[in-house]
Amino acid sequence: MKRYMLAALAALTTTAAFAEYPEKQITIVVPFAAGGPTDKVARDLAEALRKQLNNATIIIDNTGGAGGTLGATKVARAANDGYTLLLHHIGMATSPALYRSLQYKTLEDFEYLGMINEVPMTLIGKPTLPANTYPELLKWLEANKGKINLANAGLGAASHLCGLLLQQSLKIDMQTVPYKGTAPAMNDLLGGQVDIMCDQTTNTTGQIEAGKVKAYAVTTTKRLTTPALAKLPTLDESGLKGFNVSIWHALYAPKGTPKAVTDKINAALKLALKDPQFVKNQEALGAVVVSDARTNGAEHKKFVEAEIAKWGPVIKAAGQYAD
Ligand code: ASP
Repeated sequence: MKRYMLAALAALTTTAAFAEYPEKQITIVVPFAAGGPTDKVARDLAEALRKQLNNATIIIDNTGGAGGTLGATKVARAANDGYTLLLHHIGMATSPALYRSLQYKTLEDFEYLGMINEVPMTLIGKPTLPANTYPELLKWLEANKGKINLANAGLGAASHLCGLLLQQSLKIDMQTVPYKGTAPAMNDLLGGQVDIMCDQTTNTTGQIEAGKVKAYAVTTTKRLTTPALAKLPTLDESGLKGFNVSIWHALYAPKGTPKAVTDKINAALKLALKDPQFVKNQEALGAVVVSDARTNGAEHKKFVEAEIAKWGPVIKAAGQYAD
């Protein structure tokens, strides 16, 4: 009896201690370089989230490297007080199959706060690449076998997953060049140091619109409606039947963050995702903000479990590993 009373008292004290959350600056760790798609989602979201959290200062900490696993490790080990959060993407579900010595347990070391959006990818090329359409690109890839450089944001990154599927489907091996995010990869693509890349529309739409990169196809099974992207064929309709990659982003806290805090963040996240400016910015870049039902920790955790089950075998079949 006494033990239960003490436990109840401890729970009450914790709730009271966090009743005023947030009382100081919140850091959102983005496990990729600044200026890339994950970073853009985080900066946009921080602005919408801030309004729902007593105008708290929210700063972005870009800890890129190793396909997002360095940033995720940092958050898994951070204080579980709600002041360090992680905004990650599909890499949360692909990394367990890729990294033999992952420094965190994906399903055990985080509080799942909810999903944010889904973003299609585009297959793009350096501006000097002679191919202007996907069929022309195919010919160029065939003619340049053994010399093709494919940029990505490291093993486990969305760009890695997309590139892996592309190589498997086309049966063409490419030399992959890893970066800390697709922002630095984009710089090298623009400069012609690498040939092609798959990247989220949130990062490529502006470059495609400005004619600064060659755009070949989208990775979803339906064509996109965003004006700059609407003319692009899907890989599925272009001969790679079933090719379908859409990148989701979601928010996490270190395991053990008090429920009083995760509930507050979740409620704020739900409202932030309805912020008209946030929705407008996302839609303009081809991203789709998810419904309330998916901005739910338990639902998102189930979804990540399903994604691990979906992508794990694909990655293992490709025989790709990192230590
Ligand atoms: N788009 C990147 C990826 O391939 C990540 C990033 O820079 O946001 O995963």
